[in-house]
Amino acid sequence: QRVNLKSNDEFSQLAHSFNVMIGEVDARGKKLQTINQELENRVSERTFELQQTLDIAKKASQAKSEFLAVMSHEIRTPLNGIIGFSDLLTSFTLNKEVSNTVQMINESAQTLLVLLNEVLDFSKADANKMDLDIKAFNLPDLVTSICHSHKVSAEKKGLDFDVLISPLNHENYLGDSVRVRQMINNFVSNAIKFTRKGAISVTVSEHIEASDTYITFTVKDTGIGIAPSKLESIFTPFMQADNTITREFGGTGLGLAICQQLVVLMNGRYGVESTLNEGSCFWFSIPLVPQDNSISLATEEIAPDNYVDAVYRPASVLVAEDNVVNQLVVKSLLASLGHQCEIVNNGQEAIIKASEKKFDLIFMDYHMPVADGIVATKAITELGKDCINYNTPIIALTADIQPNVKRLFRNAGAKDTLLKPFTRQNLSECLNQWVFEPASPVKVIEDVQDEESVVFVDGPLDDIQQISPDDSSELVNSIVDLYLENAPEIINNIIKGLVDKDADYVFKSAHSLKSSSANVGAIKIQTLASQIEWFARSGKLSDANHLSDTLLPVFVQTKEAILLKLERLV
Ligand code: ADP
Repeated sequence: QRVNLKSNDEFSQLAHSFNVMIGEVDARGKKLQTINQELENRVSERTFELQQTLDIAKKASQAKSEFLAVMSHEIRTPLNGIIGFSDLLTSFTLNKEVSNTVQMINESAQTLLVLLNEVLDFSKADANKMDLDIKAFNLPDLVTSICHSHKVSAEKKGLDFDVLISPLNHENYLGDSVRVRQMINNFVSNAIKFTRKGAISVTVSEHIEASDTYITFTVKDTGIGIAPSKLESIFTPFMQADNTITREFGGTGLGLAICQQLVVLMNGRYGVESTLNEGSCFWFSIPLVPQDNSISLATEEIAPDNYVDAVYRPASVLVAEDNVVNQLVVKSLLASLGHQCEIVNNGQEAIIKASEKKFDLIFMDYHMPVADGIVATKAITELGKDCINYNTPIIALTADIQPNVKRLFRNAGAKDTLLKPFTRQNLSECLNQWVFEPASPVKVIEDVQDEESVVFVDGPLDDIQQISPDDSSELVNSIVDLYLENAPEIINNIIKGLVDKDADYVFKSAHSLKSSSANVGAIKIQTLASQIEWFARSGKLSDANHLSDTLLPVFVQTKEAILLKLERLV
């Protein structure tokens, strides 16, 4: 508004000055508006450009992952032929020269396989796509089985090999045993590789930090050691302490980088101390969730010193596989073990064959025409008791190493997964495990279903009862009441966090549910919460989503079990 005042005094001057000032403010406002508009245009242009660049980068990263997954699959398939057939040749009586050559072909293919796995792992870690498969496992069994084969190689080199497992509060822990195995394997095989004389010692110990249980694995050697200047960067990809050494010992320089990524993913720590020409000590420490010792778990196999294939009777095996080389490999290896096999070319044929004839075991490839292995496994399982192969174990036989493949097969009803390339011994062990009575000292791997069906264990509440024997039921009751009252709310918080895609909130809620469930022995909820916690921590909310669906039904079962326990205590 302008002041409209025409007089010959100071008021008119004041009105004029006011109008001029308002005019300037107006002009400035318009200019500001234009500048703002320009700025907004520039921001949206830049945002658009950035979005485009981001999309290109995402597509490139996805293409890289897909390329690696496809290449890995493609390389594994011929590798399966080389490893399988050279393995088969070693079972014949050959003259020494031929036998050595076959041995070398087999070892070269195995080295190529290790290399392929390392490159894949590294690229997965690089793209933050490393996955953890969290399950309960028996820690002393795991360590013993890993060290068993290394002890043999160390002793062949004239090295002493010791394993010391300090007294642990538990035997069973929740974690990714396959990855723990991979890390220990890497440290121990390096220790053996870089030590010419002396000893290797592996130690395992447990300590509590805040409310978490940490397990520390240490591998010490008396080998060539690492120069101080190289020590800091030894966990860097492709880093090797000395190129001349590499020529002598081989290797890619990726093993430690992968271990580092895995330890970080598990929220742990790692380190090394080393003195040149005296030896090295590599260690890592990771939080693992203790599990009740009374639960029966999938135990690790310990191969006897002179492993003899335990063939009890010719088994009848159905193999669904479309690749002709792989068909021949598996057929020849099974025949060399004394078993008969029938081959079908796709999942559809497998479903038909499985409804016509009884088999002792079914091996199922994944990628096949007409119907893939997962579809076929699901269809055979869903035939139920009417199917003659209702109790026949289905084992996935795949070159596809993506972690979700294993899960998909498991959900479809497969008992286990055997990765290509496989050896004669792998097949033999698989048959021993799933078809024959176990031969001592090979332990049976119990059905993981047992573990999954346990919702509640007595131990923790019994422990609480012992804390105050005079007034036991009151303390137990109040802890249980608190748990039963709070748990549904925390479960709802997890679900809410998942809906809002708030990984941090999901992580914190799952962590709280995990520890409160552990206190009362609600083992299944504890396991689920722990898995959700891991997924949330690694930003994989869709995987956590899938698990969260089961939380409430499991809670209802848990509540029933806990109330029954309270009745027993009274
Ligand atoms: P690779 O063994 O395949 O070369 P790693 O990442 O496992 O790859 O190891 C990287 C490097 O670290 C090795 O090449 C070696 O120089 C050094 N190193 C690892 N472990 C030891 C050890 N126990 N003693 C001496 N040097 C070691």
